[in-house]
Amino acid sequence: MQETDILVVGAGAAGASLGYLLKQAGKDVLLLEMLDAKKKNKLCAGIIEHRADKAFTDIFGKTLAEAGLVTMPMETMIVRHDDYEMSHTMPKKHQAVQGTEQGSVQDENAQGFVASLRNYLQKGGKMAAKMAVKKAAGYEPGVVSYKALPRKHFDDYILNRYLEAGGQLMDRTTVRSIDKERQVACCVNLVTKETFEIKYNTLVGADGATSIVRRLLTGKRQSTTLALEAPVPLTLRETVIYLRPADHGYFWYIPRGKDATVGCVYHKLGCRDSEIRKHFATCCEDMGINIENKIRGALIPDGSDVLLQPAENCFLLGEAAGLSDNFTGGGIHYALLSSKALADAFAGGGGDGGVQAAYYKAMKPHLDAVHKNYSNANIYFAAGGKVVEFLGQKKTN
Ligand SMILES: Cc1cc2nc3c(=O)[nH]c(=O)nc-3n(C[C@H](O)[C@H](O)[C@H](O)COP(=O)(O)OP(=O)(O)OC[C@H]3O[C@@H](n4cnc5c(N)ncnc54)[C@H](O)[C@@H]3O)c2cc1C
Repeated sequence: MQETDILVVGAGAAGASLGYLLKQAGKDVLLLEMLDAKKKNKLCAGIIEHRADKAFTDIFGKTLAEAGLVTMPMETMIVRHDDYEMSHTMPKKHQAVQGTEQGSVQDENAQGFVASLRNYLQKGGKMAAKMAVKKAAGYEPGVVSYKALPRKHFDDYILNRYLEAGGQLMDRTTVRSIDKERQVACCVNLVTKETFEIKYNTLVGADGATSIVRRLLTGKRQSTTLALEAPVPLTLRETVIYLRPADHGYFWYIPRGKDATVGCVYHKLGCRDSEIRKHFATCCEDMGINIENKIRGALIPDGSDVLLQPAENCFLLGEAAGLSDNFTGGGIHYALLSSKALADAFAGGGGDGGVQAAYYKAMKPHLDAVHKNYSNANIYFAAGGKVVEFLGQKKTN
């Protein structure tokens, strides 16, 4: 039987970042990954919002650019809804990341944004709508700024940093069962089919939306939605969004450096594959995008089902914990923020109670954000649609 202090399942953004931080702190850690680590390519639009940008620098001590990760700022966004279309360009000085050290500033602005939307819905005021659009699109310092990159570059960078730090990785390997009392995970090598046991002191599930660790420990799957995504050639520099407020979702075209990506997520449609594919095809057609290959899908948590600790000595990170913004579908920032929070909790020591308490405390503002996003989704989507109608123009074609 193998032994490790901290066993991390899933070598995505969350698991590999945690592994890196733990190795930096001199901990004994082992990372398991079900796929071929070199080839794995997470289905993702690659939008890095300001919180992810900042968390990346906090973890790796470098900006994305310094890490050699080429990003494309999202300068102009075209939002379409029914027959209306609105184009919005961010002023140059606000395309870069704004200083966002204080959570309170973000919270205040987020409340301001929500308040503006509510106000708009109640009173139909043009000023309120304009303010909401400005805030949503990142005019206001410290609110939102986005850039995008090919996700594989991002994940490869993080995993390589873990390996360079001396981290141990077993890929093409997963967990079959977990014995909570003995603190033993029964694992299987998916190539040789060989099974073996790993004894751990702490088990971390960083294995995404379909987390096996979460399922084995709670007996339940978390609540998820099917998202589609496909890389396409870069044809437009503008980001294009087709809102579907009634289905709580949207289709996107996002330029991200050398290529672009199209995809969609509709929370109200859950996993209704054929309906989702129909909307996706309509939007692609409208944009003149011809997709020849089979479109891949992946699940995203809907933000209703967050769980940080499924059992004693066990923690969940990123999407395994259900951390995802319902309105945007974004979760890279939560993957990084949760791994940093847990690594800091381990560094603080103090036994299991200490790690648990510190992890919960650090995650509290992020849990609040996920909950708020989930419970305000109705307002966000409805207001988003109204804002496009109100400030946009009728499409000509
Ligand atoms: C189509 C799509 C587009 C998205 N676009 C964006 C975006 O633009 N911006 C954004 O912020 N977020 C986006 N997201 C969400 C974002 O990708 C996730 O929130 C983020 O990847 C979560 O990181 P993670 O490390 O928790 O999980 P993951 O990145 O999913 O990593 C989990 C890892 O665990 C491995 N694994 C899974 N099961 C097992 C198992 N049983 N055993 C061992 N290993 C396992 C996986 O192979 C993977 O390597 C998108 C998601 C989808 C589906």
